[in-house]
Amino acid sequence: MHCLNVKLTYKCSNQCRFCFSSYLHSVQPSKDSILSAVEEGYSKGCRELVLSGGEPTLVPDLVVAAMETAERLGYIKYIIQTNGFGLASNETQLLGFLASFSKRYEVCVSFSIHGHTAEIHDAMCSNSGAFESLLNAVRNISKTDCRIYTNTVVSSLNMSHLREIAELVLPFNPTILQFAMMHLKSPSPLATGLVETAQAIRRLVQGRLIPESILRTEGIPFCLMHGFEHCVGESYWPNQLDLLTCNDKYLEDFSQLDSGMRWKAPNCRRCIMNCICPGIWEEHAREFRDANIHPIA
Ligand code: SF4
Ligand code: SF4
Repeated sequence: MHCLNVKLTYKCSNQCRFCFSSYLHSVQPSKDSILSAVEEGYSKGCRELVLSGGEPTLVPDLVVAAMETAERLGYIKYIIQTNGFGLASNETQLLGFLASFSKRYEVCVSFSIHGHTAEIHDAMCSNSGAFESLLNAVRNISKTDCRIYTNTVVSSLNMSHLREIAELVLPFNPTILQFAMMHLKSPSPLATGLVETAQAIRRLVQGRLIPESILRTEGIPFCLMHGFEHCVGESYWPNQLDLLTCNDKYLEDFSQLDSGMRWKAPNCRRCIMNCICPGIWEEHAREFRDANIHPIA
């Protein structure tokens, strides 16, 4: 499906140590530019709307305005990427809105969950209380018709606890349970290696700790998920992604690979997955070369 991703605000209630947009936290797109993008997206063929940030639930009026506009135009699928902040109280108007909206449309709430304990999650988010808020939000959304997605950025703090994170999430019946490589501008002690992270995730499915049908990865290529290629999240990406940029510009057909955020090796040309593989985060290129990873024949 052709998808439009709109960052409703760059402000956030967390200060994650790995946040890729932290330098933009003071930026607030206008309501007019957001709604214009939703309209332009529909005219260009977008039928899926992703609302992200920053933390989109900090601006609940914009969530409602964007979704109501999209509904009027004819979008059919909605994804909200959140740390749970504005959905933690069961009295928020946004929760009631999503409960009602999800009876008519496919609404997926994608929660960022980075630890199975407050100690780990809050340390990654640099926000005491973030874990409790997140769990309350997951509980609240689980009582609606919204689908639950989760995304865990794998780090040196949580890599040995991926199983416990899954055990925390599975009772909420998630549609997708994703583990993602950390994407960083500069080296960090939080970062994990590509090969060791792939191995940790593969152990989850090999040990049948997570159903293969819901496990997804991000940033880990097919050649490191041999036998579990269907778990590579990039396989399910929209066939075209448009964006509203932080400069209020509508960007058509954005590609992380073409924009230099991702990297592929010269011998990827010999890989049977080459045409659908978007590669790895650019900062993992050296490890990929040194590990002498072979293309899939
Ligand atoms: S929750 Fe997301 S936007 Fe907020 S600080 Fe963390 S990574 Fe950045
Ligand atoms: S195209 Fe390259 S990075 Fe992608 S799966 Fe094949 S060898 Fe790995």
